[in-house]
Amino acid sequence: MLKLDRQWREFSLPYRSLSSVFPFFLAFDRQGKICSAGPSLVKFCSMLKLGSDFEKLFELVTPSIGFDFDRIMEQLFTTFFIRILDTEKLLRGQMLLRADDESELLLFLGAPVVREMSDITRWGLSLKDFAIHDSVIDLLLVLQAKNNTIRDIKRIHGLLEREVETRRKVERDLHELNEQLEQRVVERTLELKRSNQRLGQSLTLLEENNRELRVLNKMGEMLQGCASLEESLDVISYSLGRLLPHANGFLQLHADETIQPELSITWGGLSHQPVLQEIATDCQAIRTGEAVLYRSGGNLPCCHHLQGTPECDSVCIPLLANDSCFGRLSLQCFDRERNSDLGFQARLQLIYTAGEHISLALANLRLQENLRQQAVQDSLTGLYNRRYMNATLDREILRADREASTVGLVILDIDHFKRINDQHGHETGDRVLQCLGVFLKQRIRGDDVACRFGGEEFVLILPGVGLDDLVRRAESLCYEIAQGEFGVGVSELPALTVSMGVGLYPAHACAQDDLLICADAALYRAKSAGRNRVVCYRA
Ligand code: GH3
Ligand code: MG
Ligand code: MG
Repeated sequence: MLKLDRQWREFSLPYRSLSSVFPFFLAFDRQGKICSAGPSLVKFCSMLKLGSDFEKLFELVTPSIGFDFDRIMEQLFTTFFIRILDTEKLLRGQMLLRADDESELLLFLGAPVVREMSDITRWGLSLKDFAIHDSVIDLLLVLQAKNNTIRDIKRIHGLLEREVETRRKVERDLHELNEQLEQRVVERTLELKRSNQRLGQSLTLLEENNRELRVLNKMGEMLQGCASLEESLDVISYSLGRLLPHANGFLQLHADETIQPELSITWGGLSHQPVLQEIATDCQAIRTGEAVLYRSGGNLPCCHHLQGTPECDSVCIPLLANDSCFGRLSLQCFDRERNSDLGFQARLQLIYTAGEHISLALANLRLQENLRQQAVQDSLTGLYNRRYMNATLDREILRADREASTVGLVILDIDHFKRINDQHGHETGDRVLQCLGVFLKQRIRGDDVACRFGGEEFVLILPGVGLDDLVRRAESLCYEIAQGEFGVGVSELPALTVSMGVGLYPAHACAQDDLLICADAALYRAKSAGRNRVVCYRA
């Protein structure tokens, strides 16, 4: 022990103090040579000698790194378990480095691992061999750990506080962002809803426009297929009724030059007859040739026909062909569903478009009818022409054959017509022909046909007539003409007389040409017999 003590001094270690606190301490150098040991360890490990090799006496159980000075130094903070090789007893403790300029030593500060109190006596030790170092070491270790922990905790606490602060800020920012997002979502949802509504409305408008276009197109197609103006008016009233289901209206066509309603139609519950009698020039649209819009409550003086409907908007559209007005389209209460300004304008535009379609289609039809008329009509007298007369005679003779009936024919020639021309001029002669034409048209029956045969000769066709009746009716006309029952407006004209030749199919002739020849022969005889008379054909 003294030897150890001496040796220890050489290492300038406070042997006494160490021994009292760590009686199991062990010191060894880099080569593993034991330099010193506590008195209790010497007692506990009988093989222990100064200068012995550490490795020959002890084994490092934990950490399991064998005897390696440097590695042991690296592990100074861990708890070391050292087994005494010959007795298998375990020591537990801490390694410490003791270093100065000249040497390096490792100090093992520990104590035997005691499982039961009886172990101590069994090992030949007593409690006095133990110092307080165990508890002190543990305490030191705990304190060290605790200090570290406390420092760590403080540091971690600081970190945590910063972290918490950062997180709170992030959370606040997130919350704010969230609120902004929610607000934007609400706004966008509203915006989306509004634009959806707008989209829905414009879709409805589009569908409605499509429907209207379809009706307009259909009306155009149907009008093209119409054979007469009467037929076209039916198409127009039907189509406008579909196009503007809540509106009512009328359409009038004027006879040429007279601007009196000739044909008219009403729809949508409008049936006031005054419209039909009203003089069309009362209408501003007809006077100006431009569409006129009357807003309900507006102060524009209304057309006569609108006085009964001041509550709603109305529009009058003139029907024009080559800048002349041949009729008008009038619509009332067309704005019931679309009361927005945009809707109203759209509807008005639709009506104008429909008006243009109708105007064009009717103008075409009028033109066609005029052409058809001109093909069969004599332009001076308005009676049918010779071509039509021939066709009618053919048709009526066929019918008479089929029905075992008759066709009466009268050829009428003005007496001394040349004199009228010569004495009063050709224009007066024309006027006389016109007046005779009007007179004949008025006096014949529904089935009868009056034609201008040529010059001052006329032909009357009377289907299904008996001979007596035929002659009687011819004589009656002859008498009325001679009585001057139709005026020609020329007072100084002498009384006009006509001569007539009468023939009957099939009594006098068996074909059209023959019938005309028969009647003409009878006329010749009437002229010869002194004129102003009726002569019936006699074979
Ligand atoms: P008659 O009693 O023998 O029939 O004598 P008329 O003078 O009537 O017969 P005529 O055949 O000699 O003369 C017919 C005249 O009718 C000749 C012609 O100038 C005239 N005339 C034929 N067409 C027209 C017409 O469209 N307008 C006018 N103003 N005169 C016409
Ligand atoms: Mg003649
Ligand atoms: Mg004549």
